[in-house]
Amino acid sequence: MGSGMSQQQFRLFRVFGITVFLHWSWFLVAVYELSQRSSQYPSLGWNIAEYLALFGIVLLHEFGHSLACRQVGGNADQIILWPLGGVAFVNPPPRAGAVLWSIAAGPLVNVGLLVLLSVVNPFLHGSALPASAVHFLWRLWWINFSLLAFNLLPIYPLDGGQILRALLWFVLGRSRSLYVAATLGVVGTAGLVVFAVARHFFSFWIGIMAFFLLSQCWRGFREAKNLSALAKMPRHAGFACPSCRAQPLQARAWVCPDCRQPFDTFAHGAVCPGCGGASPVTGCPECRQAHPFAEWVCR
Ligand SMILES: [Zn+2]
Ligand SMILES: [Zn+2]
Ligand SMILES: [Zn+2]
Repeated sequence: MGSGMSQQQFRLFRVFGITVFLHWSWFLVAVYELSQRSSQYPSLGWNIAEYLALFGIVLLHEFGHSLACRQVGGNADQIILWPLGGVAFVNPPPRAGAVLWSIAAGPLVNVGLLVLLSVVNPFLHGSALPASAVHFLWRLWWINFSLLAFNLLPIYPLDGGQILRALLWFVLGRSRSLYVAATLGVVGTAGLVVFAVARHFFSFWIGIMAFFLLSQCWRGFREAKNLSALAKMPRHAGFACPSCRAQPLQARAWVCPDCRQPFDTFAHGAVCPGCGGASPVTGCPECRQAHPFAEWVCR
């Protein structure tokens, strides 16, 4: 995250080692949205509560991604809430199973909420709860269901598209699965826009969303290209990353901790050919985990 980013958002809280940020534009959009809504409630309070509950559900969904990613040994320490939703910055280890679990855990939170609200809500009619509270809980059911359905669209980079990518990874490999998913993402986004225009509900927000989806697909194409180039580079047989099992590259991709010179640590047994300094740990360029050199040796 660049330093410029930190001025556009502020820290809300930190829990389970994950810091939650709110982008300043969230307030602008919140005020606009609340003023535009034809209130379904007799008082403004419930209207605000519903808007906050929407982001509460989004936050739980993002925590699903972050906690699952950490569970499989990845990095995830930031969630940013935007006017259009949330982003969990997750970096799971590059294995199809680990990526699949990190992505699927978000929608699974919504599935859990769907079951909970579907079981509890029918009992509230005719209970002592005020009518507005019952209405609020049914609105939560609907908001949660809509978020789940939207997120599961198989349009990369929506969760559905990323789940599809992780499933294709098992069959096609890391780079080709991303290429196919990003292609389907472009086709799906175009379909979404055509559908919205044809049904006369195209809006400024759908335009922003489409732009975001397409730019992420473009990043996906570039990453797929880099990954396929990386896959073709020569490797050191006899070594493998203890975390992700990737064989290390035959390249000067490591830096001596003493003299800062780049060298191929696997060609020199983790001892710098320039100054003789030994590297206490060797980092994996692919999953960014570091381990003592001896743990890399295949037996
Ligand atoms: Zn998600
Ligand atoms: Zn690795
Ligand atoms: Zn050195």
